[in-house]
Amino acid sequence: MATKYIFVTGGVTSSLGKGIISASLAKLLQARGYSVTIQKFDPYINIDPGTLNPYEHGECYVTEDGAETDLDLGHYERFLNVSTSQANNVTTGRIYYNVIMQEREGAYLGKTVQVVPHITDEIKRRMLLLGESGEYDIVITEIGGCVGDIESLPFIEAVRQLRWELGVNETCVIHLTLVPYLKAAGELKTKPTQHSVRDLSEAGVQPDILVCRSEHPIPSELRRKIALFCNVKQNSVIESIDAETIYDVPLLMRKEKLDERVISKLKLTHKAEPNLDTWKEFLGKLKNPTSEVNIALVGKYVELPDAYKSIIESFVHAGSANECKVNIKWFQSENITDENVASMLQQMDGVLVAPGFGERGFKGKLEAIKFVRENNIPFMGICLGMQCAAVEFARNVLGLQGAASTEIDAETPHPVIDMMEDQKQIKQMGGTMRLGAYTCELKKGSKAYSIYGKSKISERHRHRYEFNNKYLQAFEEAGMHATGINPDTGLVEIIELQDHPWFVAAQYHPELKSTVLNPHPLFVKFVKAAINFAKSK
Ligand code: GLN
Repeated sequence: MATKYIFVTGGVTSSLGKGIISASLAKLLQARGYSVTIQKFDPYINIDPGTLNPYEHGECYVTEDGAETDLDLGHYERFLNVSTSQANNVTTGRIYYNVIMQEREGAYLGKTVQVVPHITDEIKRRMLLLGESGEYDIVITEIGGCVGDIESLPFIEAVRQLRWELGVNETCVIHLTLVPYLKAAGELKTKPTQHSVRDLSEAGVQPDILVCRSEHPIPSELRRKIALFCNVKQNSVIESIDAETIYDVPLLMRKEKLDERVISKLKLTHKAEPNLDTWKEFLGKLKNPTSEVNIALVGKYVELPDAYKSIIESFVHAGSANECKVNIKWFQSENITDENVASMLQQMDGVLVAPGFGERGFKGKLEAIKFVRENNIPFMGICLGMQCAAVEFARNVLGLQGAASTEIDAETPHPVIDMMEDQKQIKQMGGTMRLGAYTCELKKGSKAYSIYGKSKISERHRHRYEFNNKYLQAFEEAGMHATGINPDTGLVEIIELQDHPWFVAAQYHPELKSTVLNPHPLFVKFVKAAINFAKSK
């Protein structure tokens, strides 16, 4: 069958959860046997979010092929359990970059290059790209930003043209809006939805389905009113009520028959009812925990949990796998000192030191690691967290005064974490870190090996600095073992402490590969270690 295209737009306000709605719909269609992928088009001018501060746009999610992408791609992978790639995230910047490069090559010789048709043509080409692979029955395209924003206009225009070019039953537009509740009036209000659909229609796109975010159930008279004023069928006004967890949303959308509306609009041949057994089992365990642990997340972006989205979700997956409620306690690393570290962390059943960049909060991370190392509290370090564990060990166990990462102190006498030669030549900032999937060999008999249950793994990276192998022997002799090594380069990917119940740190980002169906073993076993530690107290 020819690939069908679903477009998801948003109106009224940002942060309505287009990514979760898209991922939930994809899940339902996948559970019926369709092959589905999701892509996100972002209207900002950066080529990708790799150079953005996490405070701006949340976490930067990295795909297998090393693309630095929007955090919504993380939701897509966690829900669908299939990999995304560079092709799944396109920004205005990338569209313009391609068009401008082509102009320089002479592709438009003699022509004035314009937003319409040249930019919109490039957007359309990218919108169809994944579908042309023949791999997918359905491609869902989420358009970032809000309808009515200046920067969204070329994307909406591209959707309008594609609908016309592909034909009526080949595309479906779902518009996500907000139906706010006015407490003083005791009423749900539909006006913002009407106006936002009007904006979309003015741009030539009549939505087929409205998904209305609301804090209260939307009664049928109100659905009728929305349908009438927005020109959609009443059964295509879907309510999306605030959910306890994002993982409830596929089931809520199923109840509202979002998948059925889409199937009917796209005239898809009806496949089986969605099989959501494993999903329900996951939710059942998540909601009926038999134990509870407190895990400290030590980082410098803790004021914005979106900066650690994949880590938070990995704990949800690992919590469910262990039937355990994982409470994440946030610690701003800048505030941790040798005087207060004990009072801050002693109630914790596990401590995770997060990824990050730059000097701010570095000292606090070292204090946290020293404390958990000396007090046998389960510890997991990720990327910068692993580098901090190496620096802490060098300073406090090996006695290497002033040991550091050259990212933090370029003049350190003991660069236990340093930049590789090939990285030193790089001048450009965007897309030049060690990015994407690399294989890693685990040492038999190590904790890492027992966690994964195999010796060859592949994990995703995003960093410039590495463990300096000049210090490896000294580390090993003192009980900090490198138990995961990149077989091609010899780079250290995992370190673990011998005389400690659970002290494991990874140079890569395990959180990027945890999904509902495949909770990541490092998180699963870390939570298990925290449960055991809590019991032993
Ligand atoms: N800043 C460190 C590096 O570039 C760690 C990066 C990270 O934690 N993602 O190597």
